[in-house]
Amino acid sequence: MFRCGFCGAEFPSEEEAASHMMKHLSEQLEKQHQAVSQTYLLMAASQLTQICLISGRRPEEAMDIFTRVYELLKNWHGGAQPKDDFMRWLEQQWGDKESG
Ligand SMILES: [Zn+2]
Repeated sequence: MFRCGFCGAEFPSEEEAASHMMKHLSEQLEKQHQAVSQTYLLMAASQLTQICLISGRRPEEAMDIFTRVYELLKNWHGGAQPKDDFMRWLEQQWGDKESG
């Protein structure tokens, strides 16, 4: 008899035990994936909240900003756009705040 180390179920062959334990492994990986996804969502929510608090913008406006920053950073990182585009956008944000 082969015993599963996770749940203690017993199997007549090593093959059956191994394929059963693969199910536990994929469950664990799925849980990890969900945890990582949730971490990113929480980080995004935290950033959006900061944008709202610091700039006095509404959540809808902050979401637009967040999406725009994400696109700019992604393009910059991917080499599609030069850093200047991002810097220009940042300067615009400062300009808005001074005038408004
Ligand atoms: Zn098991």
